[in-house]
Amino acid sequence: MACDLCDSDGGTLLFRSARWRVVAVDGAEGAAYPGFCRVVWNSHVREMADLAPAERDELMRAVFAVEAALVQALRPVKMNLASLGNLTPHVHWHVIPRLPGDPAFPKPIWAHALEPGSPDGRALGTLAHGHPEGMTEWQEQVRRALEVL
Ligand SMILES: [Zn+2]
Repeated sequence: MACDLCDSDGGTLLFRSARWRVVAVDGAEGAAYPGFCRVVWNSHVREMADLAPAERDELMRAVFAVEAALVQALRPVKMNLASLGNLTPHVHWHVIPRLPGDPAFPKPIWAHALEPGSPDGRALGTLAHGHPEGMTEWQEQVRRALEVL
């Protein structure tokens, strides 16, 4: 069966380990919420409770490393961490820096519908794209934090 998160990274790949990967969210969401990353378990495991304890710890170490790197890089008002994933068999964490003036603040980002191609999406869309040499500073900081885990 086709699976979006097996067929593609699901965003701009910042780092991949054998068991998980970290992507910068692309498109309108990534443009509206700079620094928005997802930490994705590579294989089909739906719930945190289905991971072995050591795997769960490893995944959360990655989540917290991304969180810390984004705090340092972007100085957000608040970090939001969420695991929802109702539509995919890959357990994953959303790591979202909340910056002053983001479109949904202070509500959860999912409380605000984004228009694809909205002005803020066009203005910031290029942030989320590119190859390692074209990574933005915050993307580099996240990658470096994960390399030393
Ligand atoms: Zn899959």
